Amino acid sequence: MGLTGIQIFKLLPKTNCAECGVPTCLAFAMNLASGKAELSACPYVSEEAKEQLAEASAPPIRPVKIGSGDTQVTSGGETVMFRHEKTFFNKPGFAALITTDMDDATIETKLANYLAYQYERVGLNLRPELVAIKDVNGDAGRFESVIKLVQDKSDFSYILMSEDPGVLTAGVKAGAGFKPLIYAATKETADDLAGISKEFGCPVAIKAENLEQLREISEKMTAAGVKDLVLDSGSREIQKAFQDHIALRRAALISKDRALGFPTICFPCEMADNLDMETLIAGMFVAKYGGLMVMSDFQGESIFPLLLERLNIFTDPQRPMTVTQGIYEVNGPNENSPVCVTSNFSLTYFIVSGEIESSRIPTWLLIMDTEGLSVMTAWAAGKFVGDAVASFVKKSGIADKIQHKNIIIPGYAASISGDMEEELPGWKVWTGPREAAHIPKYLKEWKAD
Ligand code: SF4
Repeated sequence: MGLTGIQIFKLLPKTNCAECGVPTCLAFAMNLASGKAELSACPYVSEEAKEQLAEASAPPIRPVKIGSGDTQVTSGGETVMFRHEKTFFNKPGFAALITTDMDDATIETKLANYLAYQYERVGLNLRPELVAIKDVNGDAGRFESVIKLVQDKSDFSYILMSEDPGVLTAGVKAGAGFKPLIYAATKETADDLAGISKEFGCPVAIKAENLEQLREISEKMTAAGVKDLVLDSGSREIQKAFQDHIALRRAALISKDRALGFPTICFPCEMADNLDMETLIAGMFVAKYGGLMVMSDFQGESIFPLLLERLNIFTDPQRPMTVTQGIYEVNGPNENSPVCVTSNFSLTYFIVSGEIESSRIPTWLLIMDTEGLSVMTAWAAGKFVGDAVASFVKKSGIADKIQHKNIIIPGYAASISGDMEEELPGWKVWTGPREAAHIPKYLKEWKAD
């Protein structure tokens, strides 16, 4: 169990200097106890106190890393029940099942398809990161060769699944350095898998028959020195699995139960007989509170909505996504090219730049820092008003890159054009379209004065 706020308070300097962002040490202690603050925010904690506070300040759900390289997934590390309380931190990993009874050609085709499921969205590359390699016949040699095939033909990190600790050991050796997740320690195999996990430094999943047993095995493995655990409550019935996930999150965050303070793994592939239903189930666990999800397959129409949902749920709700203020070149503009200006809300940027790109008209795109607010919201908040936009245009340096003095503002900000022209003597301010979809037609017809 973690320390209470009062216990933490006794270990703090009690100077109430407020450098941690709250006015008193007591308030900071309370925040620390509830997982709303990081110990590092107080620069005056003694080393001795740090040691004692380590347990209290550790995330109530341990972050566990699976795999290596660009596809490494960190699961866990969450501190709140509900996203709006703070944010969710670590996106769940999606895995597709590869079984040892598939032939090599089938596996290669699947891997090639899975690798192709990569999507650009708001400047990010969305893709699945994992495959789950499952031994179905106890053949260690075949298990090793499938692992090698996955390593050779893809960059996926992976989960190794077998009921036989000997097969798992062979698999982990074949993937030495790749830090796979080993699935799964049961009450019969907990000792063996604790040994493998410690020897190779790999995280290990526990599969139990219920939450109480999960807790027992977790305590046993932790006592044996295994730090990185992933939890499977064993339920494959949708409602029960959902309840288990909520119970696990509450146990970790509210009851501060360290034995259950680990990310989860769930198996939509074992809860439905078609990929559409699996996708719905996985979507439910993205929101509450799946750490890793194993699907029977990936198809574009299944993985894309899941990646998008994951992006949305795991975006900090208190911080709009932004792009950096500055001048962006689209389609290779020159000194006669049109100049558009808009806000730095990332969705605005990517929609507007995408439409300009598709118009094929070389264009300068000025992105103004509006603290991530969209044009209309920024205008209403006084951040995208005539004098501010004009001041930004002057400082941006765009005048040195063009031979005309024309600027196109978003249609929804038409009312700022007068103020802008006052602040930018000699410039003509054009009101562009309200809808981004009309930008290509507008640019094709636009002519500088
Ligand atoms: Fe207290 Fe440290 Fe916060 Fe200062 S920074 S108020 S000493 S907890």
